[in-house]
Amino acid sequence: MALRANVYAKLRDNFMREAPNITRKSLSATEHDLRVEVAQHRLIATKLSILRDKTTALEEFRRNLQELSTLLLGEAARAWETASVQIETPLRECSSEILRRPVVLVPILRAGLGMLDGMLRILPDAHIGHIGIYRNEETLRPVTYFCRLPVNLAEAQVVLLDPMLATGNSACEAATVLKAQGAQRIQFLCLVACPPGVQQLQSVHPDVAIVTAAIDPELNEFGYIVPGLGDAGHRYFGTG
Ligand code: URA
Repeated sequence: MALRANVYAKLRDNFMREAPNITRKSLSATEHDLRVEVAQHRLIATKLSILRDKTTALEEFRRNLQELSTLLLGEAARAWETASVQIETPLRECSSEILRRPVVLVPILRAGLGMLDGMLRILPDAHIGHIGIYRNEETLRPVTYFCRLPVNLAEAQVVLLDPMLATGNSACEAATVLKAQGAQRIQFLCLVACPPGVQQLQSVHPDVAIVTAAIDPELNEFGYIVPGLGDAGHRYFGTG
């Protein structure tokens, strides 16, 4: 109990520090003409604060990343097409709406996998593709080493997943692969983005909408977003 109380006290303190920053960052993103949706939601800001905290333990990190992903998918879904249907409730017939297109979730390996679980809880019939990308250390170019995608990409709403939009190179490569396989409606979902990554993805794929929980100011010389949350894959899988 004491531990949990501690966590919530810390969470509240972090929240008080983070919330104004997140608003400011999204404003400065507008100033720099970054066309990206920064989700403004107190639960999203709170969960991101827990992920940023270096003392957050593995179980807490994993759970909050999953829950944050669920909330972000809800934000992304605002842009999805719906179709009208007639439904019979127990009382009478009424018009209602359902998703018009199948949804394909595509995590970029490995860290993107962490975002899947939370999303499948609210979209259990989503199709799933996987794309693995590494950086060739000689050419510094991204190389696709694994790709398994559903066959319905052309008709689907495709959501590309990676917790961190850092240099933007993997995101660009993944979007290129998806388009080559027929995808026409792609959103890129991440927890934290930074201006170089957003600019890179938008310059190569201006039609790919970016949804994120935050835009941080910097990318350091090791390719990490600062302040960011560290290595998302290591922290999620406990390999750090
Ligand atoms: N990948 C991560 O996991 N973290 C960063 O900050 C950048 C890329």
